[in-house]
Amino acid sequence: MLGVHDTDVELLCAVDLVNSGKDEEQLADLDALGDFVTRHRVSDVTRLTQEDLLAVHRLRERIQPLFDTSDDEAAAKIVNTLLAQAPVIPRMTSHDDHPWHLHYSYPGASLADHLAVDLGMAFGRIIASGQRERLRRCAAPGCRRVLVDMSRNRSRRYCDARTCGNRLHVAAYRQRRRAEAG
Ligand SMILES: [Zn+2]
Ligand SMILES: [Zn+2]
Repeated sequence: MLGVHDTDVELLCAVDLVNSGKDEEQLADLDALGDFVTRHRVSDVTRLTQEDLLAVHRLRERIQPLFDTSDDEAAAKIVNTLLAQAPVIPRMTSHDDHPWHLHYSYPGASLADHLAVDLGMAFGRIIASGQRERLRRCAAPGCRRVLVDMSRNRSRRYCDARTCGNRLHVAAYRQRRRAEAG
């Protein structure tokens, strides 16, 4: 999307993080948190504790409004709180077969600090390049999940859930609502 590998990767990680708290809790325990770390190839993560889990849940709450606001200033304020959470130390890395890219969290950072800083930088870049509107809520009725629209013409409206964006599903839902209302 931005053509910058790590920004795209970090934004998809942020989407997955926010959506993990929708519907049922998908980061309920340390095993689930470990899976999240593996899936998103978050580097330098050592032993995870219950405190890490709670800190990631708190971070998730702070990131979510970035997908709701229609205001760059409000979004920038949130990003600044993320970047102020921990020391920001840019350095280049090529972990897990990723191409060379920049990390911003200090070595040995807790998972929540690592995510706050690195996701904060990715959000900062998308806002600074005038693309904040790519961060959205899914448009499917009843869906509370978020998405980052990486399409060239910024036309994506639905999240990755199999039911969302399925026109039959949406039509059936509307019909049901009409029936209930009528
Ligand atoms: Zn990385
Ligand atoms: Zn959806």
